[in-house]
Amino acid sequence: DLPDVTQVRIAMTAEKRTLRIVAVGSGKGGVGKSTLSANLAVALHRLGHRVGLVDADIYGPSQPRLMGSEGEKPTAEGKQLVPVMSHWGVPMLSMGHLADPGQAIAWRGPMAGNALGQLIDAQWDGIDILIVDLPPGTGDVQLSMISKHKPAGALIVSTPQDLALIDATRAVSLFEQADVPLIGLVENMAGYVCPHCGEASDPFGQGGAEAAAAQMGMPFLGRIPLTIAIRTASDAGLPPAGGDAAEAAPFLAIARRLEA
Ligand code: ADP
Repeated sequence: DLPDVTQVRIAMTAEKRTLRIVAVGSGKGGVGKSTLSANLAVALHRLGHRVGLVDADIYGPSQPRLMGSEGEKPTAEGKQLVPVMSHWGVPMLSMGHLADPGQAIAWRGPMAGNALGQLIDAQWDGIDILIVDLPPGTGDVQLSMISKHKPAGALIVSTPQDLALIDATRAVSLFEQADVPLIGLVENMAGYVCPHCGEASDPFGQGGAEAAAAQMGMPFLGRIPLTIAIRTASDAGLPPAGGDAAEAAPFLAIARRLEA
């Protein structure tokens, strides 16, 4: 007897893991790509999603500090790494969990590629969305990484200055080259909120990011203000998106837009 093809297909689909990789990239470093990745993962978890986080910035890992999981070590099952569970309900893996703190990570390209492969091909059982914090910039390493571990979509993070310098455009073309759909643009450090009076000001003007997103043909997902509270909480390993302070709101709003 031949098996019923339809039944076989249904069984295969049910078994197939649908781990969607969402890559977070930027034209250059220091724009808040890691901060957004961490807080987006925490915000999506708060909204009920099964999210994991990979720190692909293997030369300068910052996720263990941002997520308050410094010093923890992943275990292994067979050849697979088992992610570290953060306090925020988000399992995560970073080279910072494998290397000793402060130890310089100086590998050649192929070794770095292998290391990254191990983080992405780890045991992400039960996870639907894997947020991958890419290394800064738009070089060959990034391109080969996203071709090998193809993301379902990419987010671009940019500051208002970065947009003016068209660094963000390079990040966009990186994903276009690899045929990765662009989910949208997030503007970080957009305006400054005074910690004393709460007044918001825009040293670089307003509306530039929306216009730039439109020009690059992708949705604008929202802006995150520059606040001292975001910086201090991040440094303390307390992602603002996991708390009840006002700083959580912009991250939750972007996570909701991703759901839509
Ligand atoms: P990247 O990953 O792009 O290199 P980071 O996420 O490491 O950037 O951020 C660089 C620095 O800026 C960090 O000290 C971080 O705490 C700070 N930072 C990021 N976003 C904000 C923000 N919206 N408000 C205040 N500080 C921020």
